[in-house]
Amino acid sequence: PHQETATMPGIITIDSPNVKYSDTHIESQYSYQTTAVRREGSTITVSPATHEMTFRTERTVPRVGVMLVGWGGNNGSTVTAAVLANRMGLSWTTKTGEKTANYFGSLFQSSTVSLGMAPEGEVHVPFRDLLPMVHPDDIIFDGWDISSMDLGRAMERAQVLDWSLQEELRPHMSSLKPRPSIFIPEFIAANQESRADNVLSGTIAEQVEQIRADIRDFWQSSGVDKVIVLWTANTERFCDLTPGVNDTAENLLATIQRGGEVSPSTLFAVASIMEGCAYINGAPQNTFVPGAVELAVQKGVFIGGDDFKSGQTKIKSVLVDFLVSAGIKPTCIVSYNHLGNNDGMNLSAPQQFRSKEISKSNVVDDMVQSNPILFGPGEKPDHCVVIKYVPYVGDSKRAMDEYSSEIMMGGSNTIALHNTCEDSLLASPIILDLVMMTELCQRVQVRAPGEQDFQSFHSVLALLSFFCKAPLMPPGAPLVNAFFRQRAAIENIMRACLGLPPQSNMQLEYKLQ
Ligand code: NAD
Repeated sequence: PHQETATMPGIITIDSPNVKYSDTHIESQYSYQTTAVRREGSTITVSPATHEMTFRTERTVPRVGVMLVGWGGNNGSTVTAAVLANRMGLSWTTKTGEKTANYFGSLFQSSTVSLGMAPEGEVHVPFRDLLPMVHPDDIIFDGWDISSMDLGRAMERAQVLDWSLQEELRPHMSSLKPRPSIFIPEFIAANQESRADNVLSGTIAEQVEQIRADIRDFWQSSGVDKVIVLWTANTERFCDLTPGVNDTAENLLATIQRGGEVSPSTLFAVASIMEGCAYINGAPQNTFVPGAVELAVQKGVFIGGDDFKSGQTKIKSVLVDFLVSAGIKPTCIVSYNHLGNNDGMNLSAPQQFRSKEISKSNVVDDMVQSNPILFGPGEKPDHCVVIKYVPYVGDSKRAMDEYSSEIMMGGSNTIALHNTCEDSLLASPIILDLVMMTELCQRVQVRAPGEQDFQSFHSVLALLSFFCKAPLMPPGAPLVNAFFRQRAAIENIMRACLGLPPQSNMQLEYKLQ
């Protein structure tokens, strides 16, 4: 019997004997239903199994500080400006009329989930109302950039927001100044060197110590309860994975001490993990070398990435899922991008482009491999990704895609898309979602069947994969890129925290006589 029918902040009440609310926690008894599958020759045996689990979610939402690496970039300045504009409820006038600050493009702030049917019809609530979550308006930003420009000027340099909005925001943005950062020129394109006027000196070990001191300084001076660090700086080249250098946590720390090759993004990851702060990588490079992953696991800190899934790849993870799950065989996917922002300039260098190409290329693999009717062993669609730097289009990236598919009886079907991405306005709400999701996961604990103790999610936070082009997964975990499967995982795990069954979409009550 449940103790009370408590009301969550907001509007949802779970009325169930399996859900207990205390002042501090929501605790749900949850039957997790899975299947075990065995294949012997052509015989496949499937056994359903039920695992009784307990989910425990802390109800108090802490004050959250976010430190952005690359704070003065297009994403960094845009997300900071957007949060300030929302917090202050700003509106501004453009040639098409009055606009008001909002969080469109945020899964949690601007999409809804269905709770089920009421007599008057289906009830949808904002995703964020399922569980207590940090509100983006309450996030405090800080960060680093190799460019010393204050955030007011950085916002102007980015050319993303309407001018009249910039004028309203400037007094608030100008006082925000990025901290000096770690700059190792060989990791990003040579064309970035001219903006690097705000850089740390000393050995890389000393620089990591400075970053750690910055995190502690922000933590203490801002009064936030927790800090999350997120890389939205330039795309770096890939790092070699070298035994003895970055293969274990111990070796990685030793390499930092002796000044060996470690990328700035990995140095930030190490600093962040050592300070107990979750670290998220929004760019494609392999920041999470095995030693960094091991360090995160040892310290029990969340890490997640890689590369925001914002425009073209997001569509790919929807469209290929649609084709393959409709029984249509995609045979050729060609994606052209041209963009004119600083990210595009950085990506015009071959090694940085290569990082992006890899991250963009693997996104269809899970969907293709799921369908052996359409694809033979090892068979994949031709997949080509081109990125060109064209200054004129600025942050309004153009993405042009052609999807050719084989349909019935040797027929063909070609879909061509033209997408103007408004890059930073797509990435900014994703940055906020990544923070909201990570922070929530830090308050969820799960007790597995037969266990005494509660445990957290794995340090490699796979739930972030919805927001990432190239999801970082715990060792051995299957990779899912398909958009709606990823979304369902978030929704259903949040429902599990409330003792609610997965959203099945069966609606059986309307399908019977
Ligand atoms: P940007 O070039 O405008 O901003 C990057 C900022 O990082 C710059 O201000 C630069 O000075 C700074 N920087 C570079 N190296 C640094 C270092 N070592 N330490 C601190 N700061 C450093 O780029 P952006 O458009 O804001 O994109 C940021 C990143 O996000 C890029 O890597 C990009 O590939 C990735 N990304 C963006 C999108 C999107 O915008 N839609 C999607 C996916 C991934």
